[in-house]
Amino acid sequence: MIIEYHRPQTVEEALALLARSQPVAVPLGGGTVLNQPSEKDFAVVDLQSLDLGTIAQDGREMTLGATVTLQNLLDSGEVSPALARAIRHEAAYNLRQMATVAGSLVAADGRSPFATVMLALDAHLSMARHESDAKKVPLGEFLPLQSEHVPESLITSVAIPSQTQLTYHYVARSPADLPIVCAAVAQWPSGRTRVALGGHGEIPLLVLDGRSPDGAEKAARSAYSQAGDQWASAEYRSDVADTLVRRCVQELGE
Ligand SMILES: Cc1cc2nc3c(=O)[nH]c(=O)nc-3n(C[C@H](O)[C@H](O)[C@H](O)COP(=O)(O)OP(=O)(O)OC[C@H]3O[C@@H](n4cnc5c(N)ncnc54)[C@H](O)[C@@H]3O)c2cc1C
Repeated sequence: MIIEYHRPQTVEEALALLARSQPVAVPLGGGTVLNQPSEKDFAVVDLQSLDLGTIAQDGREMTLGATVTLQNLLDSGEVSPALARAIRHEAAYNLRQMATVAGSLVAADGRSPFATVMLALDAHLSMARHESDAKKVPLGEFLPLQSEHVPESLITSVAIPSQTQLTYHYVARSPADLPIVCAAVAQWPSGRTRVALGGHGEIPLLVLDGRSPDGAEKAARSAYSQAGDQWASAEYRSDVADTLVRRCVQELGE
């Protein structure tokens, strides 16, 4: 249960509040997760007055402020069609109005389309515990260690490359349902290719980061060879992962 609410005006004030141990304080983005009933008592540090809601492009990368909402991001017109599709797939319109970029990555599980495409894009999170020790953490390092980074650290922004081609495909029970398998492939002008899979488990998986897409389908098939649960068998997921990655790779060249 939320037992204290704070709305700091500066990042420094927010970090000081998050550093307290009693009561434990956590950053509040859109609140779509934090406002749900919980048996734990905690304080929230609302980020809405910190001026972290902007999107900046410098030709090399796009920097998304932590409190940019998923709908803001769609409406900005700055995102590729594949990223837009994954954002729409992540959450319905009402939720997208509230859910923030940072909150969505922190709360993501393996079925998150948004985290899957951001992993393929090699997104980097700017994180701070004190204003003087801000550091950039690759999403691929952050996701397996979420519980160690949270709650004391504050994500202030998320950077993704601007000159990367991105493709995204998924299979779900219905078009609006979360994926049983989704695949995202990002390719840099150098040929560097990253392939991520989602739809299963605690976090999306990076299955390839190479100089080309060679071997991507095989890597995807192998990555999901044990990925069975109540939604689908491992055999099915493995086959679908291969097919979706092939489709994504083919689309890169179109
Ligand atoms: C009705 C409903 C349906 C939902 N359906 C789906 C669904 O279909 N798919 C799905 O994936 N999710 C779903 N969710 C979960 C949720 O909406 C998303 O994960 C959402 O994107 C979280 O974003 P937020 O900004 O609201 O996070 P918040 O609730 O504000 O925070 C979530 C977590 O992120 C942390 N956090 C937030 N901002 C920062 C920051 N800047 N730095 C560090 N930590 C931060 C918080 O401390 C908290 O631990 C649903 C939620 C609701 C209420």
